[in-house]
This record gives sequence, C-alpha cells and structure tokens, in this order.
Amino acid sequence: MLSQITSSQKSIDLENKYGAHNYHPLEVVLKKGQGVYVWDVEGKRYYDFLSAYSAVNQGHCHPKIINALKNQAEELTLTSRAFYNDKLGEYEKFICSYFGFDKVLPMNTGAEAVETAIKLCRKYAYERKGIPEEQANIIVCENNFHGRTTTIISFSNDEDARKNFGPYTPGFIKIPYDNIEALEHIIKTTENIAGFLVEPIQGEAGVYVPEEGYLAKAKEICKENNVLFIADEVQTGIGRTGKLLAVNHENVDPDILILGKALSGGVYPVSAVLANNEIMNVIKPGQHGSTFGGNPLAAAVAIAALKVIEDEDLAQNAERLGVIFREQMEILKKENKLIRLVRGKGLLNAIVINDTEDSSTALELCVKLKENGLLAKPTHGNIIRFAPPLVITEDQLIECTAIIKKTFNEF
Ligand SMILES: *Cc1c(COP(=O)(O)O)cnc(C)c1O
Repeated sequence: MLSQITSSQKSIDLENKYGAHNYHPLEVVLKKGQGVYVWDVEGKRYYDFLSAYSAVNQGHCHPKIINALKNQAEELTLTSRAFYNDKLGEYEKFICSYFGFDKVLPMNTGAEAVETAIKLCRKYAYERKGIPEEQANIIVCENNFHGRTTTIISFSNDEDARKNFGPYTPGFIKIPYDNIEALEHIIKTTENIAGFLVEPIQGEAGVYVPEEGYLAKAKEICKENNVLFIADEVQTGIGRTGKLLAVNHENVDPDILILGKALSGGVYPVSAVLANNEIMNVIKPGQHGSTFGGNPLAAAVAIAALKVIEDEDLAQNAERLGVIFREQMEILKKENKLIRLVRGKGLLNAIVINDTEDSSTALELCVKLKENGLLAKPTHGNIIRFAPPLVITEDQLIECTAIIKKTFNEF
C-alpha cells in the first residue's frame, strides 16, 4: 500500500516540478477509463462527473471510437492539406449532413475553432456586407468562455484569464448575457456589427441557462439586422444538453456553428466550424489553415464519435436522466442548507453552493465527493458542475445521486 501511495505522489510531484502551474488539479492520479468510470493508480474506481469538460460524452475509451482510431492509425495519420486524403471528404460530407450545413472547416481545438469563426465572420462582414476595413465589431457576452488564445481572452472578463496578457485585440463589444434588450440596443445604436458570438448555456461561468426564448429572440434580432449568429457549442453540443445541439431546444439555426470537445469523444483533438456556402465561400486558399486540421485520423475518429451519439441515443438519454438528476438534487436541496440552487439542461448541471463566491466550500465538497468515489470540480468559486458521460445508465445515476446526497449531508 505504501509504495502505491508513493506512486500517486510521484506523479503529482513530477507534474509540479516539470509542468507549468497553469492548472490546479484535484489530488487524484488517473490511469484508466471505461465508460462512466475512471480508476486511479491505486486501483480505486470513480464515477467521472466532469467528462473532461464534456469531451467524453460517449464515455471513456468507447470501443467503436478506439477501433476507428487504431484502424486509421495503421493506415495513414497525416498528409497536411497540401494533398487530398481519402478520409477528409467522407468526413466533411458526413458532418455537414449530420448538422445540416453546406460546408465545414476542420480544426483541432475549441479555441482554434472559435478563432476560425471570428475570422470567417469578419471576412464576411468586409466582403459581403461592406463594413469598412478594420471596423467590424463582434458582440460577445459577459462571463463568456471561448478558450485561451490572445484574441479570445481579450474579450473575457475573468481577470485570471486576461490580466497581463495584453495588449488586447480590439473589435469586440461585451453585453450582459441573457439580456435581449441589451442585444437589441447595441445592434440598433452601434455601427458595423458583424456578428453575435454566444454560448447557448454558459458552461464555465457555472452552467448558466438563459431564459427560455432568449436564443430564438437573439437569432431573430440578428437576422433582421444582418448580423451573424455564431453559436459556440464546444461544450453544450453533441448531445450534452438533451438535444444534439443546445440551440435545438429553441429551433435556432446558427449562421456559424462551432464544435469541439465531444466531436472526438475525447480521443483526439478535433474541432470544426460549420456554415453555409454564402458565408464559408469567403475563405479562399491560403487565407486560413492548420497543419493537423482535417487529418485522416481526426476524420475517422469524428465519424465514429458522431455515430455513437446517434446509435446509442445519447441525447435522449441525457434528456431523460437530466430530469431525474435535477429532481434528486431538488430533494437534497430541501433537506440541506448547503445548496442554494440547482440548474442545468440534460446532463449539463450545476449546484450553486450557499456560500460566498470566494469560499472554498465547493472545493472541499469536491474533495469529499472524490473520497466517496465521484469526481467533480468547482467552476467559478462556489458552483459545482455535474456532467457525467452520456452513456450513464439510470441505475448508475441513482447511485451517484446517493453519493452526492451522502457527501453533502455528512459535510
Ligand atoms: C472548452 C471550450 C472552448 C475551448 O476549447 P479548447 O479545446 O480548450 O480550446 C471554447 N468554447 C467553449 C464553450 C468551451 O467550453
């Protein structure tokens, strides 16, 4: 036992000594994952209620996705886009019909896909809408999270993400989230608005679900004013909220759709930007790209990952089990003063802890949850996000709600 504990500590020490300290992980060292479970180096099993920030919607090491990876890895992994490959076109056709768009631009990480969407939106504004050069504005929301590049953190209002990384990229106007009047006002009173970039649910901000009708109304206002509606579904997409896309809850068709994370089932970095020809055709050869974007390994993995979502009805499962999860948490809320609020959609949920924003209560609760066999992480101080893989069964979910209840009641 002693030597095993040492092995866990050894991994932590190595990361601390040789890795940049840009994360603050929970003290658990994982070495294996299968479906909803992960195991640490001591062999202890946990329910994964983070799912790598919703990248692992299909469950850890899904055999169909792993097989696609293995088969393709033995055949061809990277050609660059200097040449055609036999997988990319097949994938592009597949993903376009899957989400109902004319074209896709393949990238790797979520942040790169957001950057791509910003570039696409700006170029469309200059070349099709006639906005004067360098004058395009994109509306974004307060408390947004769209990734970590210099441009993206320029319009973040998280001081940790932003401070001392300037000078910042201009061309973004921040308005309050979930506020239709603010959107309408800024569009009516400001010149040269090119697009509105929005998360259908703000995940990192603490699973903030907007008022019903907000997205549909926002899309309508954008359409009336020839402003592109850009949905960042990197976290909310691919079944997570109980529909294929979170915008589907309000029957909204984004002009530009951004996907990442679960697009590969957590197996490989795959992201994508989708749009119709009128918009996507403004990008010409040489104007945007990525060495790894659209590689055959990514294409094979993404096709398999999207098929799993459909074949296993994972969106429907998320919808059904999400209702049960929130019901159970509402029961807990009645008997436990630690819980201020339960919110979410599908299997993207959060509990707001009844304590000050800077308190460590949420983190301490996550440490106790870990000891009781369930992994979750606070987001923004006193909020705990609960987002298990969508392959979770009802029995497993009930077992997990019992772990959460026990942990909160013993705290
Ligand atoms: C995670 C996330 C991103 C960034 O994705 P990376 O792969 O980490 O670059 C962008 N937008 C949203 C909504 C996210 O949740």
